[in-house]
Amino acid sequence: MKDIIQRGLKQIQEEDIQEIHAVTGGDINEAYYVRAKHQEYFVKLNKEMDVSFFEFEAEGLSVIRRTGTIDVPVVYGVWEDKETQTPMLCMEWIEGKKENNTDEILGERLAAMHLGEITGYGWEGKSYIGKLMHDNHIHKSWLTYYRDARLLEQIKIGQSQGSISGKRNKQLMKLLEKLDKWIPDKPKSSILHGDLWGGNWMTGKGGIPYLIDPSILYGHHEFEMAFTQLFGGFSQRFYDAYHSVFPLSTEYETRKELYQLYYLLAHLNMFGESYGGSVDRIVRKYVK
Ligand code: ADP
Repeated sequence: MKDIIQRGLKQIQEEDIQEIHAVTGGDINEAYYVRAKHQEYFVKLNKEMDVSFFEFEAEGLSVIRRTGTIDVPVVYGVWEDKETQTPMLCMEWIEGKKENNTDEILGERLAAMHLGEITGYGWEGKSYIGKLMHDNHIHKSWLTYYRDARLLEQIKIGQSQGSISGKRNKQLMKLLEKLDKWIPDKPKSSILHGDLWGGNWMTGKGGIPYLIDPSILYGHHEFEMAFTQLFGGFSQRFYDAYHSVFPLSTEYETRKELYQLYYLLAHLNMFGESYGGSVDRIVRKYVK
């Protein structure tokens, strides 16, 4: 692995690796701390994926950076090692300790990012949630994007893998037919991180929060906030700070689980039936 990373770092005129060790905590990739002559790096590799997988992550980080609202690691490059066909992503090494106001800053800055002006919903081209790929384009309606390009795409993956069939399939289809009861057609569109669970933000120097590992899209900010609430990891101070900048609508609670459903379907498709019960519970709630 050291050789592969060494060859990658040559692309940015970096020299001998002085220290390297594996970093755990991610779901999908092999990740390494690397100290070379000039500085430290965080390098992710994944032999099984196409290089577009890391290009999408790098693009997401740069879109978030350009909003000027919230920090993300600097990306130094995405390369495919010619000898082993291993795609890799090299970025700034982030390290720091949480301060009293870290959660608050995260909430305020995420809300500031969501408040920015953007038109359309979706994304142009391929995007990934975990290892699963979506083909996207920009939609004029959030409802159709969320229903057809997100929920239906995951349902189709589930159908082909066998995790969605029979009653579960029928109920999901019924839900899609009446999704317009709850999901708005043209809410304010925002730049969304798209995969914001507790493991996808970290603290850097001075207690400053950084977003990592995005699955970027343009969409309804409630979709992002619903996912932060699915697996936990965000404090009340985070939510209070977020709401002070960008209050959530009174209808948020009525559709929150419909937004969590997408992530649960993706988890069902990637990690198996342990997520099936939550999918069924949500569908039962909305399809009587
Ligand atoms: P995966 O794509 O496999 O889910 P992540 O991007 O989530 O991998 O990274 C795995 C772990 O590595 C994270 O949980 C975090 O602890 C750490 N990490 C991610 N990015 C950085 C970084 N830029 N600097 C230091 N550590 C990082």
